[in-house]
Amino acid sequence: MKLLLASVLLVFSLHLSAQESYVLLVSFDGFRYDHAEHYKLPHFLQLAKEGATAPFMRPSYPSKTFPNHYTLVTGLYPGNHGLVDNAFYDREEQVFYRTNNRDIVEDAAFYGGTPIWQHAQNNGLRSASYFWVGSEAPVLGKYPDIYKIYDHDFPNDQRIDSVFSWFALPKKERPSVVTLYFSIVDSESHDFGPNSEENHQTLLEADRLLGRLMEGIQKSGLPINLIVVSDHGMYEMKYDVDTYIDLGDLITFPRDAVKMSNSETHIHLYVNDPDDTGWIYDRLKSQEKNYKVYLRDEIPALWHYSSNPRIGDLLLVASPGHAFRVASRNETYGTHGFDPYTVPEMGAIFYAWGPNIKPGSSVPGFQNIHVFPFMCRILGIEPPECDGDVAVLEPLLK
Ligand SMILES: [Zn+2]
Repeated sequence: MKLLLASVLLVFSLHLSAQESYVLLVSFDGFRYDHAEHYKLPHFLQLAKEGATAPFMRPSYPSKTFPNHYTLVTGLYPGNHGLVDNAFYDREEQVFYRTNNRDIVEDAAFYGGTPIWQHAQNNGLRSASYFWVGSEAPVLGKYPDIYKIYDHDFPNDQRIDSVFSWFALPKKERPSVVTLYFSIVDSESHDFGPNSEENHQTLLEADRLLGRLMEGIQKSGLPINLIVVSDHGMYEMKYDVDTYIDLGDLITFPRDAVKMSNSETHIHLYVNDPDDTGWIYDRLKSQEKNYKVYLRDEIPALWHYSSNPRIGDLLLVASPGHAFRVASRNETYGTHGFDPYTVPEMGAIFYAWGPNIKPGSSVPGFQNIHVFPFMCRILGIEPPECDGDVAVLEPLLK
């Protein structure tokens, strides 16, 4: 009887926490793991002091924007959720996924797993998004209760105002989980490099936006847990004679032999006739310099990046500091997409702050697949099956 009573109380308290906890997940695209500390950004340092942090959060491979934002909200590696890159070829649909193609971006066929917005809805909670990869497609047949079509130039302060207007809605309409996205740091550090004065100024602006978020949460009077992340860091590229790798210098393909998707730090090659794979591989392997070529089953197991047919039959991976030529760049610029396990500059940020978070707590650097089950735990809902483990970030919870 005592046991029964205890379990009834446990269920009751879980249910209660599900009703009383909110999550605001914020991404500052391209914000490198070491920059808050390096530039002594006051609001980020305050988050670490009053909340929780980690020395870095490791992105999943490839350390690109779309795959990692979608990993953060599904707890799945890109090889498992299917959004394997910012750009790739889908043999089944016979189309290239491109981030600037609205029809493609809004097509649910590209998005696997159960994103946090739909998972919240399935558990009787409401969800909203002020921009996030995957939020504009009806994944599993549903959109977030509130969502926005991506507008790169939409003012950041107005995004924040909208988010707090959603938290101010009557309880039955109020979202329990909200995602919010800012692109400014990524844009600036791509153009001028992560260590530039231009990026320093943009980081200060990011810190100001964070201050507004913390103030808004305090004013709301709601038990909102703020989770601040980035999708990847940034590598400073300096132009030299051998910085760029031109695929045309390495190989000439017969007409229609391959389809190709060039992501700058790596290239997917989709071979139309499997009989051609061998000689193409041999030719590229024999010239390996400043890059590596992998057959799909040779891709490092740590990356969890070999089973998905959207990954090229051959994957060419540039060494850090080198890039497959795409467009003209400044003499010093920034890029990402390198191996996150061996290139520390790919490290992202993680902070959590709010009523469910243990002040001053930290965990060692961790893989970004674990953020999703952590959010589910705060919301009081069981995560669906995913690659992340709730135990990794549990030490940060009260
Ligand atoms: Zn990004």
